[in-house]
Amino acid sequence: MRDAFPRRLHASDLRELATQGELGGTGEDCACRLRHAKGWESMPEERWPSQLMELQGTLRDPSIEEPTFEEFHPAGTRYESPGAPIATDFFPFNRCDVYRCTACGLLVLRYTEYGGYYVDHRVRRVEASLIVDTV
Ligand SMILES: [Zn+2]
Repeated sequence: MRDAFPRRLHASDLRELATQGELGGTGEDCACRLRHAKGWESMPEERWPSQLMELQGTLRDPSIEEPTFEEFHPAGTRYESPGAPIATDFFPFNRCDVYRCTACGLLVLRYTEYGGYYVDHRVRRVEASLIVDTV
């Protein structure tokens, strides 16, 4: 049976999952093609390799109705910077689900931007070294 509410993950869980994934090799040729999604790539449903992706949990706090839109960039990075820190309490990480590629082990984050007439799925791979503790 599928869990209606994915497991809540914190920065430490994310770091552990990402480190596990990075032990699995480079995955350069994996069919998921998510290895290069380092800066919140826009990824329509038809490009999302759903058959390879396994939901690990969510970074979203179920007790918060509207998570903050504040971003965390102490070193002058921007939203789409490949080196931007992964701060789980800040936008957009605070609304992401966490997936793992079952073929190459890569860990990725995914959330959806809702516009007036569109939805935009955004994907970013997780590098353990970029995860920061902000609390
Ligand atoms: Zn893969």
